[in-house]
Amino acid sequence: HYRCRSAFKLLEIDDRLHILRPGLSVLDCGAAPGAWSQVAVERVNALGTDPAAPTGFVIGVDLLRISPLEGAVFLSQADITDPGTQRTIQNLLPAEKVDVILSDMAPNATGIKELDHQKLISLCLSLVNLSQSILKPKGTMLCKFWDGHESRVLQNKLKEQFQDVRTIKPQASRKDSSESYYLARLYKGK
Ligand code: SAM
Repeated sequence: HYRCRSAFKLLEIDDRLHILRPGLSVLDCGAAPGAWSQVAVERVNALGTDPAAPTGFVIGVDLLRISPLEGAVFLSQADITDPGTQRTIQNLLPAEKVDVILSDMAPNATGIKELDHQKLISLCLSLVNLSQSILKPKGTMLCKFWDGHESRVLQNKLKEQFQDVRTIKPQASRKDSSESYYLARLYKGK
């Protein structure tokens, strides 16, 4: 029932590393068509399906249109790097900040590996900056990147700001792709 096979990457990562649980609030960056948000809605109990567990919250943002999903709030046709989008997100959050930032974002690929790599790294770096205003202390960030020269820059930046940073290569990611994820936990922000 998932909108996209990418759901299995998040399920696999979460089964292993437990980043989602009932009651958490989640920002899903690059959410279209919405499969990661479907997983997040289930795992944080955003619909209150389990009345005995706390109810979470999911907000998804994408440049593209995203069809509505019960349990999630979507900001379609919005650029996460735009300060206007960031203000809108904050107005929609039940609390000031989120527990988890997920990013499966990918820029439109040019086919030039080095350039695509750099573009995705800068997108991820902009999320690290966004964390300051939107991520709770001890919060988690999971972001996709395409491996290359500047992965280290992103990794080092994450290590400055999070206590625990690891690299994940889900089975569900195609073997030939340079796609990996950084999982950064225990945000040091105030
Ligand atoms: N995780 C999604 C799912 O499971 O349905 C799939 C995400 S898809 C691989 C990557 C998405 O990132 C695209 O829909 C793209 O429009 C979005 N994206 C790229 N740059 C973005 C930006 N600056 N702001 C918001 N979304 C962006």
